Amino acid sequence: MNIVYLNGQYLSMNDAKVPVMDRGFLFGDGVYEYIPVYHGIPFQFQKHFKRLQTSLEKIQITISFTERHWLDILAKLIQKNAGNHLAIYLHITRGVAAKRDLAINQVFTEPTIFAACFPLPTVSHSEAGIKAITLEDIRWAWCYIKAPTLLPNILLRQQALDRKADEAILIRNGEALEGTQSNLFIVKNGHVLTPPKTTFVLGGITRDLILEIARGKREPIEETPISVAMLKTADEIWLTSSSREIAPVIQLDDNPVGNGKPGQIWQKMIKAFQSYKQELFKVS
Ligand code: PMP
Repeated sequence: MNIVYLNGQYLSMNDAKVPVMDRGFLFGDGVYEYIPVYHGIPFQFQKHFKRLQTSLEKIQITISFTERHWLDILAKLIQKNAGNHLAIYLHITRGVAAKRDLAINQVFTEPTIFAACFPLPTVSHSEAGIKAITLEDIRWAWCYIKAPTLLPNILLRQQALDRKADEAILIRNGEALEGTQSNLFIVKNGHVLTPPKTTFVLGGITRDLILEIARGKREPIEETPISVAMLKTADEIWLTSSSREIAPVIQLDDNPVGNGKPGQIWQKMIKAFQSYKQELFKVS
């Protein structure tokens, strides 16, 4: 798995080079996507494409590729990596700068477009559950843009790891928003709740799919702000992402969540999520 796409070429990872004046390198000036691939097909691609377009638009990068064009690039990449189940990392920067200046009009190349394949992390669906801690959200205010300027996320996640937890749930103005690389769901009295999509939260593809599946089954699910008190007294907590799917949190800040085991509604949801995937690949 070492063929990558860089600016129209397919190269081995070692031969793929970006100039040091690339604004992605200098400033983290770009956006990215992480797309799981199952049976050789990018999962929920249309939604990733839409989110990518929003991110690009918000940071004023113009790329005229259609959804079909992206799919062709990725299909070739998947094929070159002999991929069946893998993850695609797609990273776009503003391009190479003439001088080190924040102003956008200093750029003299087209945007840099990079895509690579990585192994998908193994997810256990009967998993024992993960541990999380709460931390104050120190990120910027435009978290809905999927930007690679991840220093706050790195430092927050490291604090979680240092405290033997897997993820940090971020609190801003007394509200629990999301993890450093995941969205947040809680279960309270049989109702599934997730924070609404605001500029402080990344609109997760997994999050949206869970809402779609639950609503399709007429399960009680709601987008509503989650206070710290609601989080701390939740019967279940889940953290969701394209890489981990739906991870049940069994311990929060050293206290058990519910009975300290993955909850019943999580069991139901993860089954429904897996069936959704299976059905999708049966028909395609
Ligand atoms: N929030 C943040 C901050 C993330 O980095 C991620 C992972 N990309 C998510 C939520 C989950 O998004 P998705 O389901 O699209 O992977």
